[in-house]
Amino acid sequence: MTATLMTRRTFLTATAATGGVLSVFGRARAAHAGVVSPPGLFDCHVHITQPWYGSPNSVVTVRHLLGWMDAHGIAQAAVLPLVSPEAFWYPVTTEFVLRETRPHRDRLTPFCAVDPRTLGTHLPTTKDVVDVLSRYRDAGARGFGEHKPRLPIDDPLCMRLYEACNELELPVLFHLDNQANMDSPGLPGLARVLAAFPKLPFIGHGKGWWASIAGNTTQADLHVGYPRGPVAAGGAIDRLMDAFPNLYGDLSSSGAHAVLRDPAFGREFMVRRAERLLFGTDYYDTSQTDFPHFDLFSRFELPNETVEVISCGNARRILGVAGGS
Ligand SMILES: [Zn+2]
Repeated sequence: MTATLMTRRTFLTATAATGGVLSVFGRARAAHAGVVSPPGLFDCHVHITQPWYGSPNSVVTVRHLLGWMDAHGIAQAAVLPLVSPEAFWYPVTTEFVLRETRPHRDRLTPFCAVDPRTLGTHLPTTKDVVDVLSRYRDAGARGFGEHKPRLPIDDPLCMRLYEACNELELPVLFHLDNQANMDSPGLPGLARVLAAFPKLPFIGHGKGWWASIAGNTTQADLHVGYPRGPVAAGGAIDRLMDAFPNLYGDLSSSGAHAVLRDPAFGREFMVRRAERLLFGTDYYDTSQTDFPHFDLFSRFELPNETVEVISCGNARRILGVAGGS
């Protein structure tokens, strides 16, 4: 743990102990602009886990997650299942996420997920898919994801799944790299998806998505964890966000690194795309401690209105979630 992290943790622990939810960026904002701190972050991307793999001490239970959120100024979070074999070490099912989050729906917003290959065997019609997803929605699911199958992003099975999500108004959070929701440099497959479902919000996540903040990407670039260096002009993300108002970006995981690799571009990108970006971490293991995500707002000294929408406003609007207490 770095000294910086220790300082932040010490501060956050002290903050949590006093019952406040003042976040790091809130403290910085207050110091910079003399404003009241925001009500708390909405993390659009976290997971709960079970002890089927790895250290039993690394399991993220709902109780642990809520404590971790308190310690980091996160008021609310979207909890995402992981059902595809490519997505995780074992399935984190929708049913588990719905059950575990049920007593805490004021803070935890569950998503649902179905592997699209199920549509090839057991859910042959759109009505079948809508039936399953509507039961999840009726049980509290507010979005679809983490969508992470080893299929092209515009595979016919995925398109049928998006069709059902569109009908039920379930925003889709997708992971894109060379092993999940595969696409070519420039993301032409994603463009076809966005054009086919112009009213359905799609929230981009993962290495290949965030590598596409830059132009001149190769196929190999779409699988690089944390690309470094200046952002070449002509990135697919900006081009697609211009063309499709239903496209958003999830700043979790590689997202923070994508805006930090070229700070001048990153700051300008966050201000320019404020209405399309969602704060997130992708917390799924208790050993995770390195989160530059929490420092983005203060580091870039972003305008208050930019912080407001990225930190919580966009997620609540897209998912239809009321503010936390
Ligand atoms: Zn994730």
